[in-house]
Amino acid sequence: MPELPEVQAHAERVGRDFAGRVLVRFTPITFTALKTAVPPPEAAYGEPLIGVGRRGKFIVLEFESVQFAVHLMQGGRLLVDEKQSAKPRGGQARFVFDEGPALLLTEAGTERRAGVWAYPRGQALMSPPLSELGPEADTVSPELMQALFLEHKNQRIHGFLRDQHALAGLGRRLANEICHRARISPFAMTHKLGEQGAAAVVAAIRETVDEGLTYERTRSDMSASKDRPGGVHGRTGEPCPRCGDTIRAVEYSGYTVNYCPTCQTGGKVLADNTTSRFLK
Ligand SMILES: [Zn+2]
Repeated sequence: MPELPEVQAHAERVGRDFAGRVLVRFTPITFTALKTAVPPPEAAYGEPLIGVGRRGKFIVLEFESVQFAVHLMQGGRLLVDEKQSAKPRGGQARFVFDEGPALLLTEAGTERRAGVWAYPRGQALMSPPLSELGPEADTVSPELMQALFLEHKNQRIHGFLRDQHALAGLGRRLANEICHRARISPFAMTHKLGEQGAAAVVAAIRETVDEGLTYERTRSDMSASKDRPGGVHGRTGEPCPRCGDTIRAVEYSGYTVNYCPTCQTGGKVLADNTTSRFLK
C-alpha cells in the first residue's frame, strides 16, 4: 500500500502535471467509486484544478467549488490517462480535463475499496473520513507522541503506527522500518515506551519518511513496494543492515511484521511457524 512518502510525492507530481487544467467531466466507472452524494461532481465542471494536496494517505484535488479526496487503498493508483478507453483495466473513476490526458483512478484486485469523496470547498478536512484521521505522522513532537501513547494505551506499537485514527500516513512497511530504526520491538506496548521511546519513535518516523520521500521524488511514477528504501520490510532471512543478525518475520493474514532480534527484542525470536520453517 502506498504510504505517506509515496502519496505525497504522487500528489506533487499530479499537481505539477495537472494544475490549471479545467475539469469537464468526472465519471465514476464502478458504482462504488464515488463515496459521497453531495456536492455533485458537476459543481466543479468548468473550474481549473487549483492544487493537489495530501492528508494522511488521501490525495486531495482542489477546485474552486469542490474538493475531491482520493484514497488508493491497497492496490489503487491515480494514473495519467492518455487513451481514455471505454473500459480501462481496473478502472474506478476518471477526471477528464479540457485538454491533455485524464486522471484515472484504478484499483488492482477485486476489493473495490479505493474511491473518491467530494466535499464543498474547505470542508474536506472537517468531514469524515478525513476528520477522523490522527495528526500527520511526520509532524508529531516527542511530547505529543508521548501523549498519544497514553491515549492509545494497551496497543502494540506496530498496530498504533498503522492506526490512522492515532497517527495519519503510515502503513505496514513504514511501521516495520520505524520500529527497527527506533530499536523497539514491534510488539512493545505504547504506554510502556515512555519519554525515551516517544523520542526514538519520532526521530525514526522523520528519518524513514524523509528517506522515502527523497527516493520517491526521483521517480516519474509511484514505486512498487519492493523498490522502496528500507532495512527490514520484506527482507525475511536477510542480514540486518545494522548488526548482521537475521531479519525475522511474524506472519499475519495479509501482512508480515519484520524485525531484527538483536536490534529490537534483546535477541529473542518471536514465535512464528512460517519463520521457523523458513530457517530450517
Ligand atoms: Zn539488527
